[in-house]
Amino acid sequence: MLNFAVGPVQAEEEILAIGSEQVPYFRTDAFSLMMKENEDMLLRLSHAGKGARAVFLTGSGTAAMEAAVMHCLSSGDRALVVNGGSFGKRFCSLLEMHGIDFTEISLEYGADLLPEQLEPFEGMGYTAFLVNADETTTGVMYDLPMIGDFCRRNGLFLIIDAISSFLSDPFDMEGLGADVMIASSQKALACPPGLSFLCLSPNAQDRVARIPDKSMYLSLSEALLNGERGQTPFTPAIGVARQLHRRLRQIEALGGAEAEVRRTAALAEDLRRKVEEAELPFSYVSKTRSNALTAYHPPEGISAFDLFLTLQEEYDIWICPNGGSLRDTVFRVGHIGFLKPEDNSRLVQAFCDIRKSGRL
Ligand SMILES: *Cc1c(COP(=O)(O)O)cnc(C)c1O
Repeated sequence: MLNFAVGPVQAEEEILAIGSEQVPYFRTDAFSLMMKENEDMLLRLSHAGKGARAVFLTGSGTAAMEAAVMHCLSSGDRALVVNGGSFGKRFCSLLEMHGIDFTEISLEYGADLLPEQLEPFEGMGYTAFLVNADETTTGVMYDLPMIGDFCRRNGLFLIIDAISSFLSDPFDMEGLGADVMIASSQKALACPPGLSFLCLSPNAQDRVARIPDKSMYLSLSEALLNGERGQTPFTPAIGVARQLHRRLRQIEALGGAEAEVRRTAALAEDLRRKVEEAELPFSYVSKTRSNALTAYHPPEGISAFDLFLTLQEEYDIWICPNGGSLRDTVFRVGHIGFLKPEDNSRLVQAFCDIRKSGRL
């Protein structure tokens, strides 16, 4: 299969090979050293800034989102949340479940967050802001510098879910003044699912120290404490941690986050151009797009989900379908993972073929 899903994504042979090795015992100096290197590399790649720490949880990205809500926020907080799709909605559900007061800034699917939508909340006593760097449901990329400025002006604690945006779009945690950055192994890091991470500013670490633990498995104070010696409180996804180590080293050797962002941007650009040149009848779902993916509307009367099925069954290609109300109206093409421009050509050729057969 050629995989254009937005996670898990295609991994390189070198990374896959590590996954086939025996899993080593991990309470060792060698494993601790590797995890410390993983932490250092993640902090560098996200420009986390002085005094920041990164911690690892075994779980998909949502585990890290939940840990941030549970252990960086408390009942005294009043949060603002951007909800422009299923991942924004997930933050809302988590806040509700954990009893944090919040106001939702609800956006139309694919719409940008505009300065005038933040305006009414200036000086209104909010304490925290939660946003997905890009909303993977539609691929819309939010204006993070604008959000960072708003949070700075209003003294808000800023939590950014960069799970699908990390290494696809420019990200400067310190420059944005973000307190928590969340990422996970199965998106642009192109490893199997299983590990998620949080980069925590000194301010976030203070909050973690102050707020009582509400979960043992997702405890960030335990993660920070154990992380001081390169360990995790419980058995981590060791195999994924080893794959991550190789992958992070590779990214650093190839020029770091900036080079990876440029590579992904070029791949996204390449697909969008090829789709336009082939005059495929698709329209963009969002105006401001992450490099991680492109979301398209098929023409009226053509089901996005049927296109996904046709590509899967007849062409050995996975694009990324949507659920719920967007099932038939939006499909997504990922640009993360081990993909090349030739792969984009193969996808566009398959679409042209489907069009020729009268099904598009
Ligand atoms: C993939 C993703 C997540 C995490 O989903 P999991 O299935 O828990 O890994 C969270 N937020 C965004 C924006 C994502 O793209």
